[in-house]
Amino acid sequence: MKEIDVISLQAALLHTSRLIVEKESFLTQLDNIVGDGDHGTGMRDGFLELSQTALQESYASLYDLVYASGVSLVKTMGGASGVIFGTLFIGGRNAFLDEAGTKLQSAGVCAFRSFFRQSAESIAKRGRAKPNDRTMLDALLHAVEAMDAYTGDDVQTLLYEGWQGAQRGVEATKQMLPRMGRTKNFRDVALGYPDPGACSTAFIFQGLYEGLQNSEENEF
Ligand code: ADP
Ligand code: MG
Repeated sequence: MKEIDVISLQAALLHTSRLIVEKESFLTQLDNIVGDGDHGTGMRDGFLELSQTALQESYASLYDLVYASGVSLVKTMGGASGVIFGTLFIGGRNAFLDEAGTKLQSAGVCAFRSFFRQSAESIAKRGRAKPNDRTMLDALLHAVEAMDAYTGDDVQTLLYEGWQGAQRGVEATKQMLPRMGRTKNFRDVALGYPDPGACSTAFIFQGLYEGLQNSEENEF
């Protein structure tokens, strides 16, 4: 798919929400070991809200859709991780404006690549995490790097590359000592386990990729 429109992205986000809800117990078990145990329920609540309210509306542009999605995560998840995962959607929204500042109804690889790069920059600015601090940013930055290396024009493949990159970031967090958020209190036990927020980030890319795959299959 060279161009993704609002309906396709909405379908992909719905699939993503279902995947995150499905992963609740995995994320809870992991955050129970390396953190305070609330990451699975936080993500579940945020993505349930996203699917049950934000995705039930219709949107005139991709800009409006990602903005509403981020707002529903910030509102429901609360705390630092609500802002962080909300910013994953809100922080890159300007990628869905054209040069004249008009909100785009559909977009291709350049806009999607720029969307995630701007999201990562915005998260780094807000949360003050640096690479190798063992956060979701380690997955997101690997995803951005993988998407930068993709030279084709298929958005679904771009997201697949992002997913693979995010998974490499997840693997890398296993060897990192926590320095940010509450996980910093779990410095020694965390080694060998991946960062929960990094895992969620990889699930988001997986969900978007698989969700677009499904919407393409449904066209035939
Ligand atoms: P909390 O840390 O408040 O318990 P969660 O358990 O829901 O919130 O989320 C924890 C995840 O948030 C971590 O695994 C990490 O990936 C991410 N995180 C924490 N602090 C930051 C930060 N400053 N920047 C980016 N991500 C962060
Ligand atoms: Mg937690």
